Amino acid sequence: MKAAVFHERGGRVAVEEIAVRDPAEGEVRVAIAAAGLCHSDVSAINGTYPTPVPTVLGHEGAGWVEAIGPGVRTVREGDAVVLSTLAHCGHCPACAIGRPTLCHAPPTPQTPFVFRGQPAYTFANASTFAERTLVRASCAVPIPRGMPMAQAALIGCGIVTGVGAVLNRARVETGQTMAVFGAGGIGLNVIQGGVLAGASRIIAVDLMAQKLDWARRFGATDVLDVAAGTDPIQAIRDLTGGRGVEHAFEAVGSLGAIEQAFAALAPGGTLTIVGVPRLDARADFLVNALRLDRAVQGCRYGSARPQRDFPMLAELYLGGRLKIDELITRHYQLDDINQAMEDLERGELARGVFDVAAGG
Ligand SMILES: [Zn+2]
Ligand SMILES: [Zn+2]
Repeated sequence: MKAAVFHERGGRVAVEEIAVRDPAEGEVRVAIAAAGLCHSDVSAINGTYPTPVPTVLGHEGAGWVEAIGPGVRTVREGDAVVLSTLAHCGHCPACAIGRPTLCHAPPTPQTPFVFRGQPAYTFANASTFAERTLVRASCAVPIPRGMPMAQAALIGCGIVTGVGAVLNRARVETGQTMAVFGAGGIGLNVIQGGVLAGASRIIAVDLMAQKLDWARRFGATDVLDVAAGTDPIQAIRDLTGGRGVEHAFEAVGSLGAIEQAFAALAPGGTLTIVGVPRLDARADFLVNALRLDRAVQGCRYGSARPQRDFPMLAELYLGGRLKIDELITRHYQLDDINQAMEDLERGELARGVFDVAAGG
């Protein structure tokens, strides 16, 4: 079968022939129908996220269960599933209180593929840029019938990361104010998370007019174009009666944006950092600014509980309350992977989706 394999640091990714083994106990093989291109795939290639090689890229995807290993009871052959990137044990104290993103004993990366005679790793426990993948049963989350696959794919990273940051981590309350720094694939989902939470004011900040147009479509009440010379901190104060916002979200991974987002907080406000800067990045802030109950928090994978959140997000889409069609800027074939990554780097994509049809 074909898959996008990253096997040489600094090299390009190519679609290659690769084999995947049959599922062992507790594993599931999934025929991928659609896969979304997320910035973290690019981060693996450029080294921001160190990852073992060779690896089959892609971590946002949906498809059908093709085969199950012994002991799997959560899905059956033929079920529609969204892939979760969370390998969690299901039994540790963090899993037991519903915080699987903090699992104490996450299983180690698997090598279910064989590439040129060598074992190849899964990427982010998913590897969706492939006609077939093999995952732990807990990573194959059943979704309602009727959910279209291209839209379903995006639930597994971009949507849950953005919407989850608002609902699960920041827990924005009805009527609160928020600002979102960065209106790309994640930021747009933070914005629509704010709409679901009932935020009274959702201020989007970006450098690109196109992304601010998207932000309005996704529910931003105000947009600030930094490239046009707007000072976002002052503008946010002006829009909030001089106080700043109760919630700020950073969805780029830019240190400058993190510092601005912190400076835009009202007393009692919380900054939730969703973007991922370089692993060794440090930010600078005035400690005294925390004195009035301000807070800074990280958020991994939307603090998701995939088995609860994925079907819920699918139902919200099917009920017309979550925008996913509008997130899909362009469709690609797997062979177009390098083109798709260039389009993403140029900021042209809210999301690009690969339509993957399993061959032989
Ligand atoms: Zn992602
Ligand atoms: Zn655990």
